[in-house]
Amino acid sequence: MAALTDSFVARLCEWVRIPSIGVDPRHHADVHESAGWLRDRLREDGWPEVEVWDHGPALPAVFACWPAEDPRAPTVLVYGHHDVQPVDPVERWDHPPFEPVISGDELLGRGASDDKGQVAMHLLGLKAHLAATGRSAPAVTLKLFVEGEEESGSPHLRKLLEDHEDQLSCDLVVFTDTALHERDAPTVNTGQRGVLGAEVTFYGGTDDVHSGRAGGAIPNPATALAKLVAALHDDDHRVRLEGFYDDVREPTAQEREDYASLPFDEERWLANNGGGARATQGEPGYTTLERIWVRPTAEVNGISGGYTGPGFKTIIPASATAKISFRLVPDQHPDKVAVQLREFVREHTPPGIRSEVGLRGEGVPPYAIRPDDPANEAVVEAMSLAFDEPVRFARAGGSGPAALLQALAGVPLVYLGATLPDDRVHAPNERVVVPLLLKGAEAAAHLWRILAQADIAKRLTR
Ligand SMILES: [Zn+2]
Repeated sequence: MAALTDSFVARLCEWVRIPSIGVDPRHHADVHESAGWLRDRLREDGWPEVEVWDHGPALPAVFACWPAEDPRAPTVLVYGHHDVQPVDPVERWDHPPFEPVISGDELLGRGASDDKGQVAMHLLGLKAHLAATGRSAPAVTLKLFVEGEEESGSPHLRKLLEDHEDQLSCDLVVFTDTALHERDAPTVNTGQRGVLGAEVTFYGGTDDVHSGRAGGAIPNPATALAKLVAALHDDDHRVRLEGFYDDVREPTAQEREDYASLPFDEERWLANNGGGARATQGEPGYTTLERIWVRPTAEVNGISGGYTGPGFKTIIPASATAKISFRLVPDQHPDKVAVQLREFVREHTPPGIRSEVGLRGEGVPPYAIRPDDPANEAVVEAMSLAFDEPVRFARAGGSGPAALLQALAGVPLVYLGATLPDDRVHAPNERVVVPLLLKGAEAAAHLWRILAQADIAKRLTR
């Protein structure tokens, strides 16, 4: 294992050196280089089928398949991404972001954690699996799909998945872009929230008008919009769209117990995650972790309208706009929430005002797997073996392509990740804790063996 570890770290450093910033067109050549780099490593490792899917406008994705010897073994698709976030503000980095540095047991550099480290973890996991079992092929048919546009919001993922439906067919998806709750509290993530963004605009007339000549006699769109925004929540911070909570699935008693047992310091959480907020707030009856993991939200992201420049302009503005986003939990659906929002806006549009609702794309549905799903139980067992301690459940408050992958593949999706929430992903000085990645690799090695066991395999493949 020591030799494997050294080459693992050296490899990850090599990959981190490639600045594959997908959102920046000046770095698209680097995204191509990164895909090529991964393709070459997979071939080096003996994966029999390796392809770079490079049909624009999508940035290149890498696909690989290593069939199990036993044709009845389940097929597992591992998802990750090789594009990375931009590095601004670059002056806040202690070391150049694409010159990886080892410091203690950490590896620092852009992409070390999100998500190159975790993809590399799976490559190592397979090597460990083959070495430990003496096999020449994995116990399950393994497929690897590493996209190049995750940090851009995966705009072509649906098309890519549809175009390669046959190659990507599987019995289970393993999603790698996920973290542990804390270094000393290994957890298995069981879901992510969805998101729907919308822009609500209220129009009065066609032009701003003099607030003396017309003020007091015509509706003010900014005032009307402020009332709509104020009406979004009740005094208990619950969202007031009609039917908003109808499809919300409550966490299981076991999940709530697990969340409550996780180490959590509210002051520290506020300092690290609250952006300087001085107190927490939210729905009564739910803890902070529950509020961000298993409860849906409406947040006003920005309000604009009228004159906001220097000095004063005594007007009634012609229009006002609010950008609002909703985080959704199972079994809510963005389409249904969009209908609820339109109805809410209609009800809160006063006479003399015209409203418009613009949606930001189709939204991302939420996803969660039942903790007692056999595939999830297999992950818990694999993680417990690797970390040598009981593993608890957690969720993620953010959103990602898990629901899309799950819906298109039509099979369960589980999470296997070994990074940390404070890895400073998307921020200066991104790091990954190398021993955790090694444990994650060990967990993957166990998982392939466990999933091939007759009873789980039968349930997955039937
Ligand atoms: Zn990521």
